[in-house]
Amino acid sequence: MGKKRGKLFVVSAPSGSGKTTLCRELIRSLRGKRKLVRSISVTTRRRRGKEREGRDYFFVSPREFIKRRNRQEFLEWARVLNNYYGTPCDFIEKHTGRGDDVLLNIDVQGAMKIKRKKRDAVLIFILPPSFKVLEGRLRRRSTESKAEIARRLKFARHEMRFVRKYNYAVLNDEIARALKQLKEIIRQERKKK
Ligand code: 5GP
Repeated sequence: MGKKRGKLFVVSAPSGSGKTTLCRELIRSLRGKRKLVRSISVTTRRRRGKEREGRDYFFVSPREFIKRRNRQEFLEWARVLNNYYGTPCDFIEKHTGRGDDVLLNIDVQGAMKIKRKKRDAVLIFILPPSFKVLEGRLRRRSTESKAEIARRLKFARHEMRFVRKYNYAVLNDEIARALKQLKEIIRQERKKK
């Protein structure tokens, strides 16, 4: 008998909403028999501070990205704030085929593409407590210029409008609480067929 395929969990959130920390904690806390692995995207964006090649992203040139995209290597790809991002198909296939669940940390455009392609994917939107908090987080991170922060905030307002297309919305006002809610969603979804 074939092994049950893993599920796709798609998490989107405006940048600065605390999603990276939340997803890291989620994966850490779910280490058990049934794995939840994070899909590592390919991007043309510059590497930030502590980010590592192959752990946070695969950093490539725009030329390389286009080449891979033309070879249909991405399950979905999108241009987000002047950079390209893509989800490699092979990683998803390998893990879901083994029965591992995969967590995709991608933007709303990517999530909508996954929703069309993979009907049983579970879409979760992480909401920041407020725009003020979002702005504060982006400034504290200070890896982006003022213009970039303003652009990200404007983009966040646009992204928030997609929340109703998701299966779940989780408010990240307090990490422990948001984490608990995310774990509960995954537990419930795993129980389904
Ligand atoms: P950041 O540059 O802050 O790491 O990510 C910017 C945005 O790109 C975030 O919303 C993030 O979720 C999204 N993103 C990261 N990887 C992918 C991907 O493979 N596909 C899509 N569509 N979006 C991605």
